[in-house]
This record gives sequence, structure tokens and C-alpha cells, in this order.
Amino acid sequence: MAGSRFAYVRSFELPDPVLPGVFMVVRIDGKGFHGFSQAHEFEKPNDAVALELMNHAARHVCQELRGDVTLAFGESDEYSFLLKKSCKLYNRRESKIVTHIVSLFTSAYVFYWPQYFPKKALQGPPSFDGRLVVYPGVQEVKDYFAWRQADTHINNLYNTTFWSLVLLSNPPLSERQAHETLKGTVSSQKNEILFSKFAINYERLPAMFRKGTTVVLAPTRPSSKVRKSKRRKAHPRELRTLHVDIIGSAFWEEPEAGAKA
Ligand code: ATP
Ligand code: ATP
Ligand code: MG
Ligand code: MG
Ligand code: MG
Ligand code: MG
Ligand code: MG
Repeated sequence: MAGSRFAYVRSFELPDPVLPGVFMVVRIDGKGFHGFSQAHEFEKPNDAVALELMNHAARHVCQELRGDVTLAFGESDEYSFLLKKSCKLYNRRESKIVTHIVSLFTSAYVFYWPQYFPKKALQGPPSFDGRLVVYPGVQEVKDYFAWRQADTHINNLYNTTFWSLVLLSNPPLSERQAHETLKGTVSSQKNEILFSKFAINYERLPAMFRKGTTVVLAPTRPSSKVRKSKRRKAHPRELRTLHVDIIGSAFWEEPEAGAKA
């Protein structure tokens, strides 16, 4: 086959290697999830079960690509996966890496759907897009994840206030009126609306909504029953699902987090 007269078309395939020795971040994002979340009656502003399904699909990716993916961060319909500098997956071919991660995530999302929504049938096959960005150093990697978590916070504060105005106001506000009310407001004003009108203390909302979800491959916690050396060999690392602050430096310095980029 390789020697057929058609084989020349192969030369149209262009190489797409990623630079060696740099971090890679693959971010996937649900296609049209504004509509998808309505069609499947996700709770507004945050459907916790839908987020748990996203987290499960992300853990599946982390598990399959153990050794290459060291950290993942998710919010809403998106997830970012950090691949280590020395990653050799598909000889660092960009299209292979992105398509593999995005299809693995998507199939896991569909596969585990019934486990999370046993009474809600999928209305159709959902899809995700994916992109790969390289970052040269640890600082850019930390700033990348800080950027995503800051986005989580901004969106969640807005959405929580918006949906409180729509769903809890008396008389109820239309979505247009709620957007009008929030136009030009800063964080402190949204917090004030939540607290004075709806008795909601933003800081007390579930951490998963406020901080997103971070999945890390971390050293297994010490167990008194198993000798340390034995334990390290048998189960050196385990996946941990966290809802913590990753903007500050504490997260990255904590060895138990296993998040050393
Ligand atoms: P695109 O295809 O361009 O990504 P999109 O409709 O997916 O368009 P996004 O900017 O990705 O738009 O936003 C995702 C939307 O999905 C959010 O605005 C929110 O309405 C909805 N959504 C995602 N996850 C949840 C969830 N767990 N609970 C409630 N709504 C959610
Ligand atoms: P890679 O991950 O590198 O793609 P692979 O095992 O998927 O490895 P391919 O070169 O993609 O290898 O070849 C796909 C293989 O899958 C075929 O060689 C064949 O053995 C098997 N296969 C795929 N579809 C069918 C089918 N419909 N019936 C029987 N075998 C199939
Ligand atoms: Mg998008
Ligand atoms: Mg989307
Ligand atoms: Mg999105
Ligand atoms: Mg093939
Ligand atoms: Mg194949």
C-alpha cells in the first residue's frame, strides 16, 4: 500500500510538533453548552451534578494519561490539562495530543452520564472543542491557572447575583431587568445585593462553585499500617479532587498537593 501511486498524498500532511522542553496546556470547552444546559434542565446558576460529571471525565483523562498530565482545572463546561515538559505523547504532535484528550474527555462524559443523571436521558451527543497552548516556565503556568480561577470567580459572582435577581426577587425580575440591574456594578456591589436582598453570604457558597475544581496527582497519604517504602512502591501517587485557592503561592508550594509544575 505504501508504494501505490496514491501514496504521494501523504506528503501533504504537514508536521505539527510542539517545541520540546515546554509545558503544554490543553483546554477543552463544551460546544453550545448554554443551550445544552437548558435542554437538560441544569440548575442555575450551578448544577452541582453536572460539574461532578465534568470532574469525573477529567479524572478519567488524568488516569489514562498518568505520567503526562500532572494537573487539571475545571469550571463550567471547560477543563484545562497541564502536560509536563518532558511529555513524549505522540512524539509531541499537536493535533494528536489535542484530539486524543478532547475525544477521551467527551466519550467519558457520555459514558458516565447515566451514572450522574440516571433519570435524564441525553438529548443528543454533546461535543467539546480543544486547543493547545505552550508555556515556557513555571510562572506562566501558575498565571495560566490563576487566570482560569479568577474567571471562575468573576463568572460565579455575576451568575449567582443574576439568578438570585431572576429567581428570588419579589416581584420576580426578567432576565433583561436582571442584566440591567447588574450593568456597571463592581464585586462589592454584587456581594451587597446578595447579602441585603437575599441574605446570601457569597463566601459560604460551595467551594466547588467559587473555586472551580482542581485535580492533582499527589503522593498517597501516609498510612500507619503500611511501611513507607512499601507504600511508595505499591501506590506512589493518587488522584485528588480539590476545591481550593490556586491563585496564591501556597497551593504550589504545598508538597502534598503534588502540584509542583
Ligand atoms: P461555546 O460553544 O462558544 O463554548 P457555550 O454556550 O458553551 O458556547 P460558554 O461560554 O462555554 O458557552 O459557557 C458555557 C455555558 O454553559 C454557561 O454560560 C452556562 O450557561 C452553561 N453551563 C455549563 N455548565 C453548567 C452547570 N454545571 N450548571 C449550569 N449551567 C452550566
Ligand atoms: P494507533 O493507536 O496507533 O492508531 P491502532 O491499533 O488503532 O493504533 P491502526 O493503524 O489505527 O492501529 O489500525 C486500526 C486497527 O484496528 C486495524 O489494524 C484493525 O486491526 C482494527 N480494526 C479497526 N476497525 C476494524 C473492523 N471494523 N474490523 C476489524 N478490525 C478492525
Ligand atoms: Mg467557548
Ligand atoms: Mg462552551
Ligand atoms: Mg465555557
Ligand atoms: Mg487507523
Ligand atoms: Mg488507530
